[in-house]
Amino acid sequence: MLEIKNLHVKLEEEDKQILKGVDLKIGAGEVHAIMGPNGSGKSTMSYVLSGRDGYEVTEGEATLDGVDLLEMEPEERAAAGLFLAFQYPVEIPGVGNMTFLRTAVNAQRKARGEEEYSAGEFLKIVREKAKTLKIDADMLKRPVNVGFSGGEKKRNEILQMAMLEPKMCILDETDSGLDVDAMKLVSDGVNALRDEGRSFLVITHYQRLLDHIKPDVVHIMANGRIIKSGGPELALEVENNGYADLLAEVQ
Ligand code: ADP
Ligand code: MG
Ligand code: MG
Repeated sequence: MLEIKNLHVKLEEEDKQILKGVDLKIGAGEVHAIMGPNGSGKSTMSYVLSGRDGYEVTEGEATLDGVDLLEMEPEERAAAGLFLAFQYPVEIPGVGNMTFLRTAVNAQRKARGEEEYSAGEFLKIVREKAKTLKIDADMLKRPVNVGFSGGEKKRNEILQMAMLEPKMCILDETDSGLDVDAMKLVSDGVNALRDEGRSFLVITHYQRLLDHIKPDVVHIMANGRIIKSGGPELALEVENNGYADLLAEVQ
C-alpha cells in the first residue's frame, strides 16, 4: 500500500533538514502507529505525503500502490486514495458542511472517471454514513467546522474520511485535545472504516488511543527517522518509560 524509502526532506525556505531517511512500509489492511517526541518530524512527513508546499524532498521516494506520490498534485494524491486528517481542522464560514462534502466527493469521483452524485443520491449516502458514525444530522447543515466543539470537528473529519473512501488514511494527532468520550467516538469511527483494502497511519502521543485503535505495528520516530518498530507493546513501553531509553539505544 504505502511505501516510503529513505525519505529526506528539508525546508524550502531555510537550509534545515527535517526528515533524515525515513523508511516505512504499510501493507493493505494494516494499521500502523507512529509515536515520538515533539519536533521529530511526524507532521512534516504527513505534510510531505499530502503535497503541501514549503518542503523539498532531497532524497528517497514514497509510493502508494506502486505509484509515485511525490510527483502528483495534492488533489491527484487524494484521488489516488490518500486521506489526511489533521490536528486542527479548518473552519470554513459560509460553506455548508453538506455542500463541502458533496463538492469534495464529486471532485474526487470526477478525477477517477466516475459519475458525480446527484443531490438526492448524495444526501442518502451521507445520511447513512453519518448514522453509522453516530453523527448528528444537524451537523451536516452547519457551516464547515464553525463553532464545532473539538470532538465534533474530529468526528466531522471521520465523516469526510468515510465519504471519500480512501485507501490510505493518515491521522495526525487526531486525538489531541479530545476528552475520553470524544476519543472513543473517533476510535469507533476509525474502527468502523477498517477494511482489508484500507490502511491507516495513526500519529499519536498517547498510548490510550491505541487501546481503542489496535495497531499492527508501532514505530518510534525521533530526529527525522524511525528509530524503532515493534508491536503494540512498544507503545506501552513509551507510556511507562518515555523516550529517553529508546533514544539512548540508537545514540
Ligand atoms: P512533530 O510533528 O514530530 O512534532 P514536526 O514535523 O512538526 O514534528 O517538526 C519537525 C521539525 O521541523 C521541528 O523542529 C519544527 O520546528 C521544524 N519545522 C517544521 N516545519 C517548519 C517550518 N515550516 N518552518 C520552520 N521549522 C519547521
Ligand atoms: Mg508536534
Ligand atoms: Mg506534529
